[in-house]
Amino acid sequence: MQRIHFETEHDMFRDAFRSFLQKEVVPHQEAWEEAGVVDRAVWEKAGEMGFLLPWADEEYGGAGLKDFRYEQIMCEELAHINEPGFMIPLHSALCGPYIAEYGSAEQKARLLPGIIRGETILAVAMTEPSAGSDLAGMRTTAVDKGDHWLLNGSKVFISNGYLADVVIVAAKTDPANKHAMGLFLVERGMEGFERGKNLKKLGMKSQDTAELFFNNVKVPKENLLGDAKAGFFYLMNMLAQERLTNACGAVAGAEAALNTTVDYVKERKAFDRPIAHFQNTRFKLAEMRTQIDVAQVFVDRCVMDHNQRKLTPEVAAEAKLFTTELLCKVVDEGVQLHGGWGYMWEYPICKMYANARIQRIFAGTSEIMKEIISRGMKL
Ligand SMILES: Cc1cc2nc3c(=O)[nH]c(=O)nc-3n(C[C@H](O)[C@H](O)[C@H](O)COP(=O)(O)OP(=O)(O)OC[C@H]3O[C@@H](n4cnc5c(N)ncnc54)[C@H](O)[C@@H]3O)c2cc1C
Repeated sequence: MQRIHFETEHDMFRDAFRSFLQKEVVPHQEAWEEAGVVDRAVWEKAGEMGFLLPWADEEYGGAGLKDFRYEQIMCEELAHINEPGFMIPLHSALCGPYIAEYGSAEQKARLLPGIIRGETILAVAMTEPSAGSDLAGMRTTAVDKGDHWLLNGSKVFISNGYLADVVIVAAKTDPANKHAMGLFLVERGMEGFERGKNLKKLGMKSQDTAELFFNNVKVPKENLLGDAKAGFFYLMNMLAQERLTNACGAVAGAEAALNTTVDYVKERKAFDRPIAHFQNTRFKLAEMRTQIDVAQVFVDRCVMDHNQRKLTPEVAAEAKLFTTELLCKVVDEGVQLHGGWGYMWEYPICKMYANARIQRIFAGTSEIMKEIISRGMKL
């Protein structure tokens, strides 16, 4: 289905980003997979080209493009080349906005230029070994010591965990109130801030996902984001945009999985005919085509609503739930239609299958999305 969602300037941006990926990312994907992390240099190259935080104000080095379609295009193109490790969306659409939205003038002036240039890589650390879905159950604490905050605790599964220069860390700030949380900007080199191992995962092999440890880290007062007790509210507020980002990538990932499967079934023969000619193959592909088209229209509408600040947490949760479940269904059917070759790492569908599975879990599981949606129904 033809999309009527983008203007000429978006098409130009897409072309430029696509060329950048072909030149600076695609040739390195295998090496990054082996290394378990992308090369730092690619972040700076992306910064030079203006692909990091394009929405940021010009005074900090941004392009002032306050239109989520640009973020959407980057999510889509990264999904099309099946690159899960170079997490521009995490840096640009998830972490950067915390600083722009809740940071002080001093924090923005100090940090945003390096973040936009790709010299300062970002991560956000909420999840702990014993608290993921239930964020209020986190144990990391920050105690006000007058001239600094004393941070203690640990985080797990943190994307960009190795590369990050600044980590936005959520910590409890009032033992009497489980929802009182602050967001702290913890910087590379702070005493007591340590990284654990780069965790081995089912997929997303080029993404550095790490444990982080905070042992009596003295966080300067000027590294608190906004109000020391409002962090939980900030997190909830930003999760709608994070979930929309997931949805943009998931529907594009489903499209990419469908494309590679269509190519394969036209070539592969069984019983003297292309497997594309079996009714089962055609019906499966027709179902996928239909569901992806329907999902795309919904996601595009969510993006436009978000541009007008009208996207609700419930609808963002619907978008994430539907598209990530769809993605997992499409990659699974795609592997099936590839037969044994679909299980081989050298085939794109195999990596897509492995990379997709986390989408139903991170940024809030499908079950949590259903909780949010049903809460909005006031049952
Ligand atoms: C590769 C990867 C990258 C990640 N990146 C980051 C990151 O950068 N920053 C970060 O902070 N976190 C990150 N995470 C963590 C991720 O967001 C959590 O894993 C996720 O929120 C689920 O939390 P959990 O793993 O503790 O599962 P749990 O909360 O223990 O959930 C286990 C199961 O119980 C179900 N469940 C829990 N509560 C309910 C309920 N109320 N009703 C019904 N079912 C329920 C869940 O849906 C799930 O099926 C990442 C995780 C991975 C694997």
